[in-house]
Amino acid sequence: MHPDFKILDSKVYGHQLVYLDNAATTQKPQCVIDTLTRYYETLNSNIHRGAHYLAAQATEQYEQVRRKVQQFINARYAHEIIFTRGTTESINLVASSFGWKYLHPGDEVIVSGMEHHSNIVPWQLACERAGAKLQVIPFSDEGVLDLHVYETLFNEHTRLVAVNHVSNTLGTINPVEELTRIAHAHSVPILVDGAQSIAHMPVDVQAIGCDFYCFSGHKMYGPMGVGVMYGREEILDTLPPYQGGGEMIKEVTFEKTTYNELPFKFEAGTPAVGDVLGLGTAIEYMEQQGIQQLADHEDRLLRYATEKMLEVEGLRIFGTAPNKVGVISFLLGASHPYDVGTLLDKLGIAVRTGHHCTQPIMDRYGIPGTVRASFALYTTTEEIDILVQALHRIAPMLM
Ligand code: PMP
Repeated sequence: MHPDFKILDSKVYGHQLVYLDNAATTQKPQCVIDTLTRYYETLNSNIHRGAHYLAAQATEQYEQVRRKVQQFINARYAHEIIFTRGTTESINLVASSFGWKYLHPGDEVIVSGMEHHSNIVPWQLACERAGAKLQVIPFSDEGVLDLHVYETLFNEHTRLVAVNHVSNTLGTINPVEELTRIAHAHSVPILVDGAQSIAHMPVDVQAIGCDFYCFSGHKMYGPMGVGVMYGREEILDTLPPYQGGGEMIKEVTFEKTTYNELPFKFEAGTPAVGDVLGLGTAIEYMEQQGIQQLADHEDRLLRYATEKMLEVEGLRIFGTAPNKVGVISFLLGASHPYDVGTLLDKLGIAVRTGHHCTQPIMDRYGIPGTVRASFALYTTTEEIDILVQALHRIAPMLM
């Protein structure tokens, strides 16, 4: 329970809800919900092209959020912030646009073995179109990327590296500064998938040095249907548009169209204005809580939960890297993750089961999937105790 999140008061099958599916999506604080309502009650209007009052107000607030995101991730310029529908669209944007421009037959793109399907399939599509191929960075049993092998994957055909900052399945925090330094030493740009990091640690894209950084609003206490693609100006300027339509053009004739400047070149059509404003409120909310405080809170929960969960008979944790966020993937004996998830659900505990859109990780461990508990700012040690008690209770049933 938390005063800012009414949904956490819900009862599920007569039990108090224990929401531990935050890596899939976080709940939204009341202030974010209020922003969405306020937008539609008082401000709804299409942005950028209207001469009237509401359009001007909506445009100003939308652009203010762009500046807020810029400051939040310490980008150099506001026009390096492109609003998208989420991480998936952000990565598809880069894979398509970068692929059209820079991928040719025989080229290579490096991804890691612990990527979400969203950071694999768009690159496979781009590679297929270009006649290029993927190279994969392996990881250890603990879930740590092998930087030595990573270095050996570079050659004169390498065009881009795409890795996640944090693995949604293993919880590993990857050394993105180091991965970037190595990529740049080979004059190769790097995209970082920040879907699982953005709400759990301070992110500074200039300190990382990456060329692209992608994330989703709904995993950072904001609305669904909105996200961000940050790209360095120098590289974005060289890329062709991803989608054609309104807003992204300067002039259109049937003979030739010229494109708008950044960021509009990559924002074709009417964006999710209310959701962008909601994202702005989510950032303010996180800043009020203190990003470092959130990270410290989740780190304490991770340590507490790891210790308690390992006391459950037959419980194995997948992802034991020294640097982790509050994500615990586990299996109970030989039981199927879905059975564990279903029993926990009946006790009011929401966890995720399955491959978590990371089938290559499951193949790496030779398992069908895991049960995943993931934490957020409102998660409490009492909730972890409830999870652990439930696991003690159900473990004997499944052995
Ligand atoms: N990358 C990672 C690491 C993720 O965890 C997710 C969501 N589970 C995504 C990408 C895709 O995010 P979205 O579905 O919000 O586009």
